[in-house]
Amino acid sequence: MADPVEIRQRIGRLLERVKRRDDYGTLLATGQVVLKIDEVDDPEAWRAAIRRDARADRIKVRTGQTEGIVWALLHEAGKTSRSEEFHRYNRVLELVVPRAVEHHHEPLVALRDGDEALFTCQRCDSLGYVDAACGPVIGGSLFEDDCPHEEPPEDTTLTWFTIPPRP
Ligand SMILES: [Zn+2]
Repeated sequence: MADPVEIRQRIGRLLERVKRRDDYGTLLATGQVVLKIDEVDDPEAWRAAIRRDARADRIKVRTGQTEGIVWALLHEAGKTSRSEEFHRYNRVLELVVPRAVEHHHEPLVALRDGDEALFTCQRCDSLGYVDAACGPVIGGSLFEDDCPHEEPPEDTTLTWFTIPPRP
């Protein structure tokens, strides 16, 4: 388990980075951006700006507008590395989710950015941090301290997908 000070610093950096990012940055980091039309001043101008940035970076994107949403998708590029990232992330989930449940938490994903993710408990304020790319780095009270609630934890979408159902 990683040093709590390092974990706190990593969480701080992750939150800062995500907060600073504009829509194009989110597209590069996650492969897609989907917004409600009323979150954008001018959907056509928003799409044009994304396409302009992408052209400058020689990246292929698709943008569109349907039923109250406007979206942009990275065009297949980097598909392999994204699928490796997906597998890495899922392997780490299989490691940390049972650990949170052993401590009686009800874990949820609060934020995910590539290989890094922040988890919370549905019924207390514990935090967990994971970096699937290096190590993995795993830390936070969610994986180390018991949930203050006595009752057995309920399933969450995360435990549902990660822990095989009990026979
Ligand atoms: Zn808890």
